[in-house]
Amino acid sequence: MKSTNSASVKNQGFIFHRKKIFSGISILFFLSLVVNISQGALIPPEKSEIIIPENANPIVQFSAEELQKHLELISKHKIPISSKKTNAPFKFYVGIISENDKTPLNPEEARYRITPSSVYIYGDDAMLENIQAPLGSVLARSNRAGTLFAVYCFLEDQFGIKWPEPGDDRIVFTVQKNFNLPEKNYSWAPKLVRRCIRPIYNETMQDVPEKLRWTETEYAKRGNDIQIWLKRMRMGRSINIRYGHAFVTWWDKYGKTHPEYFALNEKGKRGPINPERPYFIKMCVSNPDLHKAIVKEWWTNPKTNKDTINTCENDGDGYCTCPECMKLDSDTGGDVEHKSFTDRYVFFTNSILAEAKKFNPEVKATMYAYAGYVQPPVRQRVSKDVIIGFVPSMLSDFQETDNMYKSWRNAGANEMFLRPNDQQCNTGLPVGFEKRLFDAFQIGAKNDIIGTDYDSLYNFWSITGISEYVLARAISDPSKSFEYWEEEYCSIYGPAKDDVKEFFRYWRNNFERRILPDKARIAELYGNFQKGLMPQMSKYYSLDDFDRTDAILRKGDAKKLSPAEHNRLEELILGNRHSRLTYEATVKTGQEKFDAAKKLLAFRIENKDKLNISWPRLAAIERKCGDTTGVQAFSKMQEFDNIAPTPFLWSFRIDPQNIGQTEKWQESYPKDINKWDRAQTNTNWENLRRHTSPELIEKLKNYDGIAWYATSLKIDREWQGKEIFLYFGAVDESCQLYINGKLAGERIYQHEEDWRTPFYIRIDPMIDWNLEKQKVVVRVEDKSGNGGIWQSVWLTTKEK
Ligand SMILES: [Zn+2]
Repeated sequence: MKSTNSASVKNQGFIFHRKKIFSGISILFFLSLVVNISQGALIPPEKSEIIIPENANPIVQFSAEELQKHLELISKHKIPISSKKTNAPFKFYVGIISENDKTPLNPEEARYRITPSSVYIYGDDAMLENIQAPLGSVLARSNRAGTLFAVYCFLEDQFGIKWPEPGDDRIVFTVQKNFNLPEKNYSWAPKLVRRCIRPIYNETMQDVPEKLRWTETEYAKRGNDIQIWLKRMRMGRSINIRYGHAFVTWWDKYGKTHPEYFALNEKGKRGPINPERPYFIKMCVSNPDLHKAIVKEWWTNPKTNKDTINTCENDGDGYCTCPECMKLDSDTGGDVEHKSFTDRYVFFTNSILAEAKKFNPEVKATMYAYAGYVQPPVRQRVSKDVIIGFVPSMLSDFQETDNMYKSWRNAGANEMFLRPNDQQCNTGLPVGFEKRLFDAFQIGAKNDIIGTDYDSLYNFWSITGISEYVLARAISDPSKSFEYWEEEYCSIYGPAKDDVKEFFRYWRNNFERRILPDKARIAELYGNFQKGLMPQMSKYYSLDDFDRTDAILRKGDAKKLSPAEHNRLEELILGNRHSRLTYEATVKTGQEKFDAAKKLLAFRIENKDKLNISWPRLAAIERKCGDTTGVQAFSKMQEFDNIAPTPFLWSFRIDPQNIGQTEKWQESYPKDINKWDRAQTNTNWENLRRHTSPELIEKLKNYDGIAWYATSLKIDREWQGKEIFLYFGAVDESCQLYINGKLAGERIYQHEEDWRTPFYIRIDPMIDWNLEKQKVVVRVEDKSGNGGIWQSVWLTTKEK
């Protein structure tokens, strides 16, 4: 890795400053300005200039542009940026250290100094990563951008600028004809040496209905705006450490030659539990040869950072069951789901670190405290140079989380950073979790974490923007209270501030009184809080909530607001309208659901750009949770004339011996159906919970093979004469469809995406109109990973 010494960047500025700054200015004029300003005169923007060093690095260049852009918003005057001599009496020096400032800068420190004739805005910059893309170097995560932070501190303090959301059109400012800049020295340095919220997660346009999609250009711009917003929130890092699931490519690389590196799984094999997901394999952490191999890879790979060695285990299940690994555990409990594997993982990291120190005595190792190894160790002590990425949950009991921090510390963990997935509780409805998120962060801050890495921004700004804002601000300054940031955020609504506060408090109460006390039950439903909450909206929200919150916002809207404040409030009102429609589409069933989905989609399309919501993210979680609103099914079914839902619960049985076809299960319905179990058709069979028997749920864990679904459907007689189809939202992987015992068609898994894409099969030739109900049987075969009918099934028609 190439590195530019940050000292040389500073030097450059300093030399420039001494040689050139004063050379072109008339001394007399300069003096008169001093007098004027000290008497309280205002600085006219047209008599100002922004000065940067010659050969300014991209961070300084961008800092000057950000300053220019914001000063133009405020004053309606574009102040020129230059590195040449100039006659302008007032100067904004960007990336140039004030001559009187002899104190060295701390990492990422931001300073500004206002004198009667100038402002010096500078900080600790370092170009460690040189990325060619537009703004690549500025936004590169490794680079330190103290000067940019100094610009933002200056704009915030001196002009009251706020950035409640990404995008320049969302900047909050007050117009000022002239600048009032009393003398001042200011410095900000981060308390946390890593301040990170990941910008986006797993976004794809594939699930987004066509008219709601962004073009590539729009998408790129949004991504850029989000990255800039994170800088405006002072996200950055003073140190670079390597971590993250470290061995995701190891099975592909070493599976054949060194199977002994990998966990002996519960099936008695060394290999991935799911061959399609080799990146989820776990390691045989007691194996000393593996420790050596990891160190060798780290040391010989020219691309890896030699200051830290990453020992974070992969995600997924399948902890090693070999006797040597088992011996390392202090917890001998048999229940794999509840057992603590921490001692073996601390041993693993300590051993790798000891080996790595033979190559670099200064090296530090990173490991996660996560999943089955989140509990503090009992036997092992954490070596001095191990950095722990701790992954607690904001839904856990706070006292327990606090105790865990302290126990990890007592076990030797000197440096811990917070790596939460707490934002994953977002559903797209007003969650009201901003205070909980803030408090969970504060437990870490009070336990002296060195930084954060949140996964990730949801970008549902018009709905839950307050949670992202408060969290980012708290990370940049952990010393302030929730109420401080709440006040700051709500003040952008001017005279409607208190109404907006009341609005957010309403939803916060909803979270704290209705949702949070029920967290265990919600999470249990599908083994995940978000997946459990989304389909159960009717339990935790009501139409009354939307009526009341709308009324609160209308109260604010009746006040005398500036046009900008009014627009911001309108966005919130629109966001709440979106939430209401989402709620309605989620809780309704049958034809009503279909109508609600149609209305919701039309609303989304109409307000696609007015609402600051990440449509791909929203589509992804709605799909993941079983197309809760029905929007995806609806948007894909627009070519059909009629659409009707099929039951949510179908009869279900597994067929591990593959005897169903020979025993003619496709015909057995409804005679034997009482022998069958039941299954939902909107989730994989691995995730079946409430409606299926516990014995079958147990058998379905990691079940690969054949299973049968059956139901009976009453078909509208008015459809006679039309082409009729069964439309499947998605089946994982292949299936045959039988109507009244006859094969209507099949879908065989061929393409990579087939498990998640919709398809339909024509059924009208098999329909017996003499029957009250038609017998529908689906045989599903799944060869690996999740399986089953996991997205809703619909009846549809087309005119012949
Ligand atoms: Zn092992």
